[in-house]
Amino acid sequence: MNKYSGKSVLKGIAVGRIFWYQKQDYQVVKTEITDIDAEIGRYKQAIETAKEQLTALYDEALVNVGEDHAMIFDIHRMMLEDDDYLEAIEDVVKEGVNAEYAVEMAQDQFAEMFASMDDEYMKARAADVKDISQRVVRILMGVAEDGIPTDEPVILVADDLTPSETVKMDKNKILAFVTVRGSSNSHTAILARSMNLPALVNTAMEPSEEWNGKVGVVDGFNGEFIMEPDQELLDEMIRRKNQWVADLEALELLKGKDNVTSDGRKVHIYANIGKVSDADAALSADAGGIGLFRSEFLYLGRDTFPTEEEQYVSYKTVLEKMEGRKVIIRTLDIGADKKVDYFNLEPEENPALGYRAIRICLDRPEIFITQLRAIYRASAYGQAAIMFPMIVSVEEVRRVKEIVEQVKGELKVEGYPMGGVELGIMVETPAAAVISAELAKEVDFFSIGTNDLTQYTLAVDRQNQKLESTCNTHHPAVLKLIEMTVQSAHDAGIWAGICGELAADTDLTETFLDMGVDELSVSPSAVLKVRKAVRDI
Ligand code: PEP
Ligand code: MG
Repeated sequence: MNKYSGKSVLKGIAVGRIFWYQKQDYQVVKTEITDIDAEIGRYKQAIETAKEQLTALYDEALVNVGEDHAMIFDIHRMMLEDDDYLEAIEDVVKEGVNAEYAVEMAQDQFAEMFASMDDEYMKARAADVKDISQRVVRILMGVAEDGIPTDEPVILVADDLTPSETVKMDKNKILAFVTVRGSSNSHTAILARSMNLPALVNTAMEPSEEWNGKVGVVDGFNGEFIMEPDQELLDEMIRRKNQWVADLEALELLKGKDNVTSDGRKVHIYANIGKVSDADAALSADAGGIGLFRSEFLYLGRDTFPTEEEQYVSYKTVLEKMEGRKVIIRTLDIGADKKVDYFNLEPEENPALGYRAIRICLDRPEIFITQLRAIYRASAYGQAAIMFPMIVSVEEVRRVKEIVEQVKGELKVEGYPMGGVELGIMVETPAAAVISAELAKEVDFFSIGTNDLTQYTLAVDRQNQKLESTCNTHHPAVLKLIEMTVQSAHDAGIWAGICGELAADTDLTETFLDMGVDELSVSPSAVLKVRKAVRDI
């Protein structure tokens, strides 16, 4: 039995088998083969398996995001039936070469052909050829797509996880996350929290191949990861896990109840989401709306920009799922820890202080306009609101509003129906909090991003695990800025909420209500916990 301490991200307990997740850098090597018929059989079988996977993905996407969005998997499946593509693979195998290599040769040949075409649509197909070919290669090499080889859910142990890796993982296959690196305020931690999975980061351990398949326990209450617990401890942890599950079930009784204190003060409790299917978790937690849709997650884990149509379907689906409840979509906050290759961002000395979020959008308006068009088109299907991240000046807000007006004007001419859309900003820089009185005159609401507000106020990098213990999330400077921001909002007659992780800190719920905070937006898993805290006041 070994125990390792880490920083807990979600208070919960998981017991299960360990899987050591390593980065997916498989490499195809050219080898000679003698049994050509067997190799052809192998590649044909892999194509069949790939088609089955794509059919399953299509069915899943159909339910979660609708037909328009699911279509891509159907197209990929059809591409795998293309005679020219299959022939190109088979020709190489017939030369006595292994199937993995043959698939990559066909991939390069077809991707190059598409990339050299003039038509933008056909050019974009190059990425699809790579996508389907790599699926077949992974199957041939026995590498699972998300790296998790079993269907039995596992405790995923990793050195570190990027937001793109986390977002691609199938929640149903994971019981908990434990990482060597990472800080509790990183986006990976936020994702774990939104998946309602116990998780530890910054864990003092050195995982290795031998850990695979061993029994582990993640104790998110005490920040401990235990490998191969003895029977006594295992029994004790199973008992505590059952208690945790029972406590969660007790919170279920608060569904349908008001977020109201015993002296009658009310607050909205909304949920933070990162992808369309999270809206189901928000609904099932009885959230009053979506207080933060981190739209940049639609841009992660893929090779090309999501089109206006794709984004429109995503926003529309969330709005429809939420059935008239407010859905606040934050425009993309790419940059800092959320890296996307196809944005071609240059490496920076200080990415958190760099080219990110609204700065990219104002500099590359074509990206921004595509997103705004998609949101406004979707706004006809529910109560959409938009907020803009990383604002530091009144001028930025005015420029944003000009672009919004332009987009609305164009959509009107094109005949699209649109709903009324509130416009707000994230107050997540000290600058925005300090000039909140001026900013409040420009917008309909404020949403305070305490994750970034804390990092910029205390000069503590939220990604740096070494600073975790010195970072006082209840620092009076941060609380003072929150109070100022809420006051400025109310003086101007607008509302103010909090959507950073601090919103779920129930030690501060009363403080926030005393400040007059109108809305708390938390991960779906924390909605009922915060409701209980409010009702207990
Ligand atoms: C924040 O900074 O508090 C916030 C909600 O935005 P993000 O965590 O996505 O940076
Ligand atoms: Mg932020």
